[in-house]
Amino acid sequence: MIALGLHEVAEAVGGVLTGADPTAVGTVTGKVTVDSRTVAAGDLYVALPGERVDGHDFVAAAVAAGAVGALGTRPQEGAVVVVVEDPVVALGRLAHAVHARLPELTTIGITGSSGKTSTKDLLGQVLGRVGATVSPPGSFNNDIGLPLTVLTAQPGTRYLVLEMGARGPGHIARLCAVARPAIGVVLNVGSAHLGEFGSADAIAAAKGELAEAATGTAVLNADDPRVAAMADRTGARVLLTGTGPDADVRATDVELDDAARARFTLHAGGAARPVALQVVGAHQVANALSAAGAALAAGLDLEQVAAGLSAAVPQSRWRMEVTTRPDGVVVVNDAYNANPESMRAALAAVRGMTGTRRVAVLGAMGELGAGADEEHRRLGAAAADAVDLVVAVGPDAAAIAAAREGSLHVPDRAAARRLLAEVLVPGDVVLVKASRAYGLELLAADLIADG
Ligand code: ATP
Ligand code: MG
Repeated sequence: MIALGLHEVAEAVGGVLTGADPTAVGTVTGKVTVDSRTVAAGDLYVALPGERVDGHDFVAAAVAAGAVGALGTRPQEGAVVVVVEDPVVALGRLAHAVHARLPELTTIGITGSSGKTSTKDLLGQVLGRVGATVSPPGSFNNDIGLPLTVLTAQPGTRYLVLEMGARGPGHIARLCAVARPAIGVVLNVGSAHLGEFGSADAIAAAKGELAEAATGTAVLNADDPRVAAMADRTGARVLLTGTGPDADVRATDVELDDAARARFTLHAGGAARPVALQVVGAHQVANALSAAGAALAAGLDLEQVAAGLSAAVPQSRWRMEVTTRPDGVVVVNDAYNANPESMRAALAAVRGMTGTRRVAVLGAMGELGAGADEEHRRLGAAAADAVDLVVAVGPDAAAIAAAREGSLHVPDRAAARRLLAEVLVPGDVVLVKASRAYGLELLAADLIADG
C-alpha cells in the first residue's frame, strides 16, 4: 500500500482513532491484512467479524506481530484501533481513498458468470509484460477481496486488474464505487447464482452495472446477446469482442490441438496476429478476446497482446489443471467451481483431448434454484454424449447419473476413488468438476496420488 498515517486512515474510513498517544500516531507502511497470522511490521490489521471466529480476538496478536494498528468495531487495551461501525465498509472506503491517490493507474474491472478469474489471469500476464501490474492469482471478487487487491497497488503500479463478482443487484456498482474502472469487461451472462437472482435478465442487469460504471471503454462480448445489449447502457466507448464479423476484436481460424489448447488469428484495427494459447479449452478463446480488448483499450498494441496471450500460463489453481500420471492417466482438475455453462465448457475441452477414453467425474452444481434437478439431468445427458464414462459423486449429483443408462453414481469421494482405481487404464483422460462446496479438488489430488 502507499504509506498512510493512521489518522489519515481514520479520516478515509470515517472512523475514530482510539488508544493512541496523539503525539505519536503510527503510519501504515506495510500491507493491509485481515489475517493476523500474516501480519508483519508496519501493517494495518482489519478485524472482521467472522462466522466462526471474531477477528477482534486477534488484535493483540496482530499488534505483537508488528501491526501499527487495527481497524475494528471496538477499542482495545494496548492497541491503536480505528473504530468503525462496519469494518467491511471501512475496508472499501480505505481502498477508495488509496485508489484516488494513484491517478496514473489504469484500472480494469472484469465480470461475467464464468471465466472472470481465467480472463483476469490472461490479462494480468499480458499487461505484466509491459508495466507493473496488480492481478493476484485466485478469485478476490467480493467486498473484502476486491478492496484488499486495490490496497496492494503501489505508486509504481501501472495496471490494476480487478475481478468483480455479483450475487445480487447493486453488488457490482458497489465494487465499482470502491475503485472505478476506466475499462469494464463483461464476459457472459449464464446461470451461475440463478437461484439468488431469479432470472437471466436479472443477472444481465447486475453484470451491466460494470458497463455503466466504466469511464473509458466497455469491452463487451458480442457473442453473448445479453452482453452485447449492454452497449446501450454505457456512456463509455464500446469495444466488441467475438468471433462474428461485427466484433472490433475478433478471432478467426480457431483450432484446438490434441490437448485442447486453442490457436487462432487475432484481428483488431485492420491488423492480424497469430495467437497460440497455453491454457486449456475452447472457452478460453472468448476469455482471450476479452483480455485482448481490455489490453488494447489500455494502450497496448496488437503485437504485445498476441505475444502476451501466447506466453500466458495457467495461474489460479483447480481450473483445467492438467496432470499426467506416471501410468499415463491424465487428470484434469477443474474442481474450482461449476455451473451449467462451465460444465459444458470443461466437457467440450476434455472431449477434444486425445486419450484412450474420456471420463467425467462430476459432482453437483450449487445455487441453481428451483430448476436444479432438471439442470443436473441435462448435464448428465450432455456429459454422456461428450465422454465415454460419467461418474456422478455425492447425493446431490444423483440426477447426473440418472440421466443415462451406463452412467455411474457413487455416494462420496472415497467411493469414487475406489471405483476409479478399478476402472482407469493408461491413457484415460479424467475430468473432475463440481461446485466449490463439494471439494472435488481433494478427489483430483487423490487420483493423481494413485497413479
Ligand atoms: P467464480 O465466480 O467462481 O469466481 P469465475 O468467473 O472466476 O468463477 P473461472 O474461475 O475463470 O470463473 O472459471 C471457472 C470455470 O468456468 C473454468 O474452470 C471453466 O470450466 C469455466 N469457464 C471459464 N471461462 C469460461 C467461459 N468463457 N465460458 C464458459 N465457461 C468458462
Ligand atoms: Mg473467480
